This record gives sequence, C-alpha cells and structure tokens, in this order.
Amino acid sequence: MRAYLLGGRPLVFPFFSGALRYDCPSCEAPCCKGAALGIGSSRELVTIQEAQPRSPLFAVPTFQQSQRLALQTPAERCWFLDSKRRCRLERVIGRQAKPAGCRLFPFVRFRNAGETVVVLPDFLCPITIGAPTGVGPSSHDALALEIHHSQVGRSGHKELPVPRDLPWADAMPLERRVVEEAERHLFEESYLPYAELQHLLALAALGIDGKTGALAKVEETVRRFIGATDKPSREAVREVVALTGVLRLQASSLPRREVPAVLVALSVFVAVAEGMRGASRTPRTAVSIWEAQLPLLYALAHLQSRPVVKSGVTLREAVGELPTVRAPLLKVLDEVERNGRRGVAQPLEDILRAQREAFAAPLSADAVAMLHGLGRVLIRACTFVPL
Ligand code: SF4
Repeated sequence: MRAYLLGGRPLVFPFFSGALRYDCPSCEAPCCKGAALGIGSSRELVTIQEAQPRSPLFAVPTFQQSQRLALQTPAERCWFLDSKRRCRLERVIGRQAKPAGCRLFPFVRFRNAGETVVVLPDFLCPITIGAPTGVGPSSHDALALEIHHSQVGRSGHKELPVPRDLPWADAMPLERRVVEEAERHLFEESYLPYAELQHLLALAALGIDGKTGALAKVEETVRRFIGATDKPSREAVREVVALTGVLRLQASSLPRREVPAVLVALSVFVAVAEGMRGASRTPRTAVSIWEAQLPLLYALAHLQSRPVVKSGVTLREAVGELPTVRAPLLKVLDEVERNGRRGVAQPLEDILRAQREAFAAPLSADAVAMLHGLGRVLIRACTFVPL
C-alpha cells in the first residue's frame, strides 16, 4: 500500500485502490439532495455566489463532521442539480467549478485515528465493488491528488475512538496489513479464511499466540443460535472482504482481537438478508447491517465466550442507557454479573438458553431487540474470560 501524506500526517485509504466504483449517469443523485456543499477555496465560493447570490445565507461551519465551511442545500435538490440530474456548475463552467466536497464525493468522511487521517466513503452513494485496478477516480493516487486540490485540512476532523486493546500507533499498522491481505481473499467461497487471518494478525499485534479454527466455531454457533443455514454468495463474500477495512474502522472502539468474530456474524446476516424474498444485495447491504445491528452482531459473536463485568464498572450504569429492559434480559444480566463470582464462568449461549423460550430459534423480534441491548452492555461494561 503506497504512503500518502496530508499536511505531513499519514493519509490512509482503508480500501483497495480503484475498486470502489460509482456511476453518476445512472444514479438518482442522492448526494445532491439535502447534502452540504463542502467548500475548498474562496474561488469556489465566488463562483457559487455569482450563480446563486443568496447562497452564503445557508453557510454552515462543518462538512461531514470536519471543520470546513459548507453551504447547506435544500432537501429536495441542490440549487445546481439540473433536470438530467447533472451539476450545472460542472456542465457550464467545468469540473473544477464544483465545490470540493462534490468533487471528492463519496470519499468525504475524514477521520482522525491517532496521528493518521483515514478516508471513509459515504455510503449514501450506491458504491459497487470492482477489481482493485489501482486506476480511475477512486484510485488512491487520484483521491490523494483531489484531496490536495480540495485543500482538505490536516486537522479539524472527527476522532475515531481508540480500539480498546491497542493504541492507534499499533492498531493502524494492523489495519493497513488487514487491507493489504484482503486481495487474495476476494474470490473465496466463505469469509472465514480472511477472518481467521485478521484474528491471527490481531493476536500477533497483541503479542499473543493464536491458532486458526476459532472463527469456524463462531460461524457455526451464530447460525445454530439464529436458526439460519444460509451461506453467503461469492459476490456477498467479495463485498464484505472489500469493505472490511472500512467496517473495522467504523467500529474502531471494539477490541481488534474481537472484530473478526463480529465480521463473521455479519457475513452470516448478509447471507440471511440475501436469501429473503424480494431482496437485492449490494455492498450497502453489509454496511447497513453493520451500522444498524453492530451490538447484536457483537453479542452473537460472543455466544461461546464467558462474559464477566469489568472491574470498577457496574452493569446498572450500562443498563441505564438502554431504551427498555425486559425481564429476560435482566435475568441474563444478573447471570453475567454472577459469572464473575463463579469458579467457572458460564458461556453466554448457556446463560441465554437458560431463559428457555425467550431466546429460542427462530428468534422473535423481542429476542433480537433484547440481544441488541445485551450487545450494548457487553461492549460497554464487560470483558471475556479467555478460554
Ligand atoms: S450518489 Fe454517487 S453515483 Fe450518485 S450522483 Fe452522487 S456521486 Fe454520483
């Protein structure tokens, strides 16, 4: 992976060069409806103001959670979106007249990961996954050049939470290695081999010996627990592999040694989503499940693990943050609390099974909602007894 800098800080693209594609001519242009126009230079502002003299009244101080002047356009459509869903500024004056944020879109989410600035795509855009050609508008070279032309600041970006088990100085080399290794797993039948590799790389970064095979058990357990036998298609596996670098950083607070198991749970859910009546899977399927269901995936990825409450933490605080807490979940949390005092801590699946029907497959919507709550408490207040 080539090295790029942004104002002297390492700049990292956690995805293959040239593989994340988008096709504006065939698109409904959601990026031009209700989005803010990220301003790169005063020249852009002059051009916009000449075309829309009142537009400065809609200025806002941030763009995509970075400190950058922007103009908030109407929810219906941008002032410059024409009837053919093309940008009038680009059509009449040329590409350089487009605001910097629009030229960079969908690669506009800049985040601080310690000393490094990472670039995350905005999945409002119907991104597809192509071959990692290293050329084209989403190649790292092209993006780095556009970022330079767009005068993206070296600071003022939102902080990504530090992984719970590794400081960024050690975690970022791991993240880069995980993306580098992904290419040879693009055409696998299953996500497991890549997940196993991620797990071993994380253990190595933590100075812990590890062996393969742990994640096959996770996959089998998740499937059994939710009552699903679906296997992801090769296309679905390819999409999760290609987006792994981005997804891992979107969940940066999670311990690096635990993320591969959670990604395995994701691959099971992508397979389920794919098999549903009327479903159409795209790369955004995996992203939306990851963003909406992460606490659930976290709980399911730890069914074989033995949860205990972290020292100095009470479950009460974590439970207090949950929207609603139903009786079966309270009983589960009581058992988790007792786990710390037991000679041998119980695996999470056994604790859940003891609640009989409440968590029996096929899982009810109530059960899944409770598992969401459990996942949030586990992330917030628990750790796991090593097997
Ligand atoms: S959402 Fe993506 S593909 Fe659609 S118009 Fe915007 S940049 Fe182009």
